[in-house]
Amino acid sequence: MGQIIKGKPVADSISEDLTKKVEMLKTKGVAPKLTIVRVGVNPSDLAYERGALKRFASIGIATEVKELSLEITQGDFISELEKINKDDSVNGILIFRPLPKQLDEKVIKYIIAPEKDVDCLSPVNVAKVMENDATGFAPCTPSAVMEILKYYNVPMKGKKAVVVGRSMVVGKPVSMLFLNENATVTICHSKTQDIPTVCEDGDILVVGIGKAKMIDSSYVKCGAVVIDVGINVDENGNMCGDVDTEDCLDKVSMLTPVPEGVGSVTTSILAKHVVKACIQQNRI
Ligand code: NAP
Repeated sequence: MGQIIKGKPVADSISEDLTKKVEMLKTKGVAPKLTIVRVGVNPSDLAYERGALKRFASIGIATEVKELSLEITQGDFISELEKINKDDSVNGILIFRPLPKQLDEKVIKYIIAPEKDVDCLSPVNVAKVMENDATGFAPCTPSAVMEILKYYNVPMKGKKAVVVGRSMVVGKPVSMLFLNENATVTICHSKTQDIPTVCEDGDILVVGIGKAKMIDSSYVKCGAVVIDVGINVDENGNMCGDVDTEDCLDKVSMLTPVPEGVGSVTTSILAKHVVKACIQQNRI
């Protein structure tokens, strides 16, 4: 029987460490701050925002939310963003995505200041993930995957990591982070042939596809560590991942649950990135 590895101990351990760092920064007269840019009142953005504000308050990081109208023009959005870029009291910026249609992410990603871009929207940070440049910011969800593996002492060096999904927020960056840890990486997507056989090769299997419980035990190697990034709603209206936990649990060594898995670590990673941004900007 495999072990269910939850996110909460990982998140708590990161927060505990950050609380000490923030106290140290405050003794030097520096107070880290995040600005959240939210366009409209999307319920899932609001839920994430509530979780982040609570976590940040407990760590001692200041926050500010810029709620912008759903009808905001591209020009007005860019001038708001430029103001936050220039505001020296702000160390990190999180922009909720997807943005409404009139706002072009392909333009906006070049406007956000890379040194404040704590969730890897800027191409500068994408490149730093590729280059394994520690001054950059990987997206929070892939970083949460790596923190979970490290917290539970899962070896990555020389291991085979299989990633299902190739989006810019999950699959591609997590694959690069595995490579940076000296794992051997295979990436699957919707056109990959015979995915179960490819997945069965993985010592570590990370799934981020948005297909409720698609990954059953036929995809999983005996003793594998499985990280389920998916967030879906099942036939009974309950939240579930991309992995069929019940079916896989006997075969795996460790598996993250949904809910209470990867998703519960991301706000702590966001906090970690804001503190890192603050330290870098103040050359501490
Ligand atoms: P996305 O942009 O829709 O990308 C999905 C990826 O999965 C694509 O690369 C797609 O392949 C691949 N895919 C879809 N169906 C497939 C199949 N049947 N077999 C193999 N590959 C398949 O989604 P995303 O933003 O990466 O999110 C993925 C999941 O993670 C969603 O459930 C999302 O809610 C969740 N998520 C969770 C967190 C968290 O904090 N826990 C954060 C972000 C996202 P193609 O490229 O070929 O189309």
